[in-house]
Amino acid sequence: MVAAPVNIIVGSHVWVEHPELAWVDGEVFKISAEEVHVHTTNGQTVFPKDTEAPPGGVDDMTKLSYLHEPGVLHNLAARYELNEIYTYTGNILIAINPFQRLPHLYDTHMMEQYKGAQFGELSPHVFAIADVAYRAMINEGKSNSILVSGESGAGKTETTKMLMRYLAYLGGRSGVEGRTVEQQVLESNPVLEAFGNAKTVRNNNSSRFGKFVELQFDKNGRISGAAVRTYLLERSRVCQISDPERNYHCFYLLCAAPPEVREKFKLGDPKSFHYLNQSNCYALDGVDDTEEYLATRRAMDIVGISEEEQDAIFRVVAAILHLGNIEFAKGEEADSSVIKDEKSRFHLNTTAELLKCDAKSLEDALINRVMVTPEEVITRTLDPVAAVGSRDALAKTVYSRLFDWLVDKINSSIGQDPNSRTIIGVLDIYGFESFKLNSFEQFCINFTNEKLQQHFNQHVFKMEQEEYTKEEINWSYIEFVDNQDVLDLIEKKPGGIIALLDEACMFPKSTHETFAQKLYQTFKSNKRFIKPKLSRTSFTISHYAGEVTYLADLFLDKNKDYVVAEHQVLLTASKCPFVSGLFPPLPEESSKSSKFSSIGSRFKGVLEAIRISCAGYPTRRTFYEFLHRFGVLAPDVLDGNYDDKVACEKILDKMGLKGYQIGKTKVFLRAGQMAELDARRAEVL
Ligand code: ADP
Ligand code: MG
Repeated sequence: MVAAPVNIIVGSHVWVEHPELAWVDGEVFKISAEEVHVHTTNGQTVFPKDTEAPPGGVDDMTKLSYLHEPGVLHNLAARYELNEIYTYTGNILIAINPFQRLPHLYDTHMMEQYKGAQFGELSPHVFAIADVAYRAMINEGKSNSILVSGESGAGKTETTKMLMRYLAYLGGRSGVEGRTVEQQVLESNPVLEAFGNAKTVRNNNSSRFGKFVELQFDKNGRISGAAVRTYLLERSRVCQISDPERNYHCFYLLCAAPPEVREKFKLGDPKSFHYLNQSNCYALDGVDDTEEYLATRRAMDIVGISEEEQDAIFRVVAAILHLGNIEFAKGEEADSSVIKDEKSRFHLNTTAELLKCDAKSLEDALINRVMVTPEEVITRTLDPVAAVGSRDALAKTVYSRLFDWLVDKINSSIGQDPNSRTIIGVLDIYGFESFKLNSFEQFCINFTNEKLQQHFNQHVFKMEQEEYTKEEINWSYIEFVDNQDVLDLIEKKPGGIIALLDEACMFPKSTHETFAQKLYQTFKSNKRFIKPKLSRTSFTISHYAGEVTYLADLFLDKNKDYVVAEHQVLLTASKCPFVSGLFPPLPEESSKSSKFSSIGSRFKGVLEAIRISCAGYPTRRTFYEFLHRFGVLAPDVLDGNYDDKVACEKILDKMGLKGYQIGKTKVFLRAGQMAELDARRAEVL
């Protein structure tokens, strides 16, 4: 039996299964009752059991009769050749990074085209996705979120910017005095990128934080406020980078600032700073850091950061560089340390000067640790390795507080609309990550992606499939991976990895080793959990996207978001109001280090806050709805006394539409067909 889709005719281009090549393309030259004869491009004649049509070039994957890998990849490649970077799969948009500017694709003329156009009527575009969200809001008062996901370097952040630009175009106000909300949201990007982006192996401008932008709209559909939420800034990058990556952009652009600025902050060649010289990469192709410095200052002006604040921000950035150059030597007592040499002393003094805190207190905070027990307060000395750990912890804390300050500042200068009834959210999130060494950051990122994957499973595949099954329509099932078991492993309460981690963090005697042992015991027989042979502290999770081995070594420290009490005291006392403002004094009770807020569980909150709704397949209608709307296209059919299903079929045939499906109660149209019918309807009305 030949499983040829109905739309195959002589001359059709098809994919046929091939024993060695998996799939080859070819052309149908004969169809008989028993067989389809195909000439393949590698010169064979075959009589395939299974064929696939057509070979690429369709702007909606659902137009492919069977959704499977070769067809999908070929289709994307064929379109990419033509610079068609966008393709639909139903109401999901797939974008491929063009790695070149395509200005015409995003100009005002394009925006005008997509404004209010029926989904599927025009070529697939990121504007069409934003337009659907906006119209759902206007017509039905629904809030919507647009989720942009993909691997690092795939183009998520650029896509997010295009979405924002288009929404600003739809909901923006012209002729308003001063800066509008939408301008400010767009202009906050360069500031966030200077402090939150870095060059990685995959992407010269990789965002090292997740971002959720919420645009608030008033009852007239105008943007009335906006909020930027960021999470999971990669803190470890501040102190630790590997070749050929870079630290955050702000460090390099500050080292390239005009001479008077560098002098003021005692900065020189980036090669002279430990936090930068762990990698050999300093400059980026096509980027002039001096210009970037000036551009960042301008961007800060625009989002309302004062001259004084800007000065303080860069002073803190410079202080972090000097802090990283403080080295320690063994002290006289066992397990103690001292500042290594005059050079380190210079950097210590400079750090204190820039942070406007006391140099002796800074030194103490780095080489000692105060322990509070119920009985007494003990001051313990730290050995040089622990002192370096303390130094790096301080650098990371200061930097992440600085980043949070920038986000808060941006939000308060944009302004929130407490009366807004509807929002459109855009989520730009890192894709799945798997490196040679994976730590807590990758664990959180991959957990988020598991959640997103589950969302897709539930709302797209499961829902679609159930509908198709119910309607008994001909559709080869899309394989999807159910990842509920991975999610249970990670987030189940109690007993999941996050719960066990939180527990370990509360318990003073825990170490990464006891934590790892606990995991091994608990998940001994879990299919998704693997204990690597010979390892005592690493564990492997079998994610939907593959196996990733995590090093548990820093999980406890990274999950605890507490600030070392001495660091807190030191910086609260800074004479610079900006610096002390980053460290507001804590209420007495919570200053004890046993109280902490777990990053892992807080991150789960983030996820729940993002309610993503699925608009459903855009072009399906019940027979009744369909006849009601399109009956006018064929009055004779309506008069013909057919049952509803047959009547729908007759109308569709009369209109010459192909590839639609008739279910038990509904008509399923391909993307664009509804628009076509609407246009025909408009002609006759
Ligand atoms: P991600 O956020 O997924 O890591 P980015 O959005 O930063 O990736 O994209 C990486 C780079 O790819 C950008 O710096 C840009 O050069 C290029 N790029 C991505 N999308 C586009 C696009 N639509 N048009 C032109 N260039 C793009
Ligand atoms: Mg990005």
